[in-house]
Amino acid sequence: MNKIKDVYGKQSEYSIQEIMSKYSNSNINSAKPMAWNGFKEFIVVKKIRENNDVISFYFKPKDKSKLLKHKPGQFFTIKLNSKDEKYKDEIRTYSLSMMPNEEFYRISVKKVPSGLISNYLHDKVEVGDIIYGMVPMGLFTINENNKEKPLILISGGIGITPLISMLYEEVEKRKEIFFVQAIQNSDVETFKDEMKEIMKNRDNVRNIVFYSNPKDDDSLGKDYDFKGRVDYSWIKNNLPLNGDFYFCGPPPFMKGIYKALKELGVKEEYINFEFFGPKQDMID
Ligand SMILES: Cc1cc2nc3c(=O)[nH]c(=O)nc-3n(C[C@H](O)[C@H](O)[C@H](O)COP(=O)(O)OP(=O)(O)OC[C@H]3O[C@@H](n4cnc5c(N)ncnc54)[C@H](O)[C@@H]3O)c2cc1C
Repeated sequence: MNKIKDVYGKQSEYSIQEIMSKYSNSNINSAKPMAWNGFKEFIVVKKIRENNDVISFYFKPKDKSKLLKHKPGQFFTIKLNSKDEKYKDEIRTYSLSMMPNEEFYRISVKKVPSGLISNYLHDKVEVGDIIYGMVPMGLFTINENNKEKPLILISGGIGITPLISMLYEEVEKRKEIFFVQAIQNSDVETFKDEMKEIMKNRDNVRNIVFYSNPKDDDSLGKDYDFKGRVDYSWIKNNLPLNGDFYFCGPPPFMKGIYKALKELGVKEEYINFEFFGPKQDMID
């Protein structure tokens, strides 16, 4: 059976059926209208290096059809076009990192040390190549009932991918948005120029950047706003606790944010997260 593996190892493998039933809002077996069943062919139309670790891939469907507009926060499930036994049945999921649209999908992939598919994508997949992709899926999406609340998006590292997609959509609609980024330093900052572009001439978004390990030439106040980590007391003193929270990042970051929000009395219904692994790993 095909397995969707996540970045944190064996115990967190999902079968394709599990993923579909867990996350899909367009059940593959249902009669509901949907763009396509199973996998279809996509062409890599652009490959852009974002930083030392991350490359973005832009895909268009080979059949030139209009794409299903994803809900910000959803992911794209892919399989490589390879005859090599090592790769051909491997399936991975990547959050869609662009403004929802019907023309192309974009994923932004971090190269994981010894990671099978992320390394293949980085090193071997080029513009013009084919990959197979499923309909966007996932329940990590904006709760339409909380539109009046401040929106708080908090990313750790590559966890920015679903959140920037949310930002693209919500920036036109919300009165108040906090976009908080936790990154090691400027070498691994993703979408810096895009963030500037989104923020241009807007006063409803605050972008707050934490560097845990700034480089000597990273400038406090210019490149980043705080040194260190997003923690309980910073959240308490700087974010509206009556807000609607969405966060995504590596396990220790996720655990920290989740614990802090719970301790600060944020209700579960306003705590939303995507884990690039199983939820249980985060709560334990
Ligand atoms: C909903 C969701 C959304 C996601 N979105 C994104 C995204 O936007 N961007 C992104 O970059 N990633 C994302 N991921 C993670 C992505 O799906 C992959 O898990 C990631 O790219 C790693 O895949 P891989 O094949 O490169 O690594 P794998 O080969 O699956 O390896 C995973 C880990 O196991 C280690 N490992 C592998 N083989 C061995 C071995 N023999 N011995 C010891 N350790 C080993 C690797 O070093 C690595 O740390 C997402 C995951 C989920 C579940």
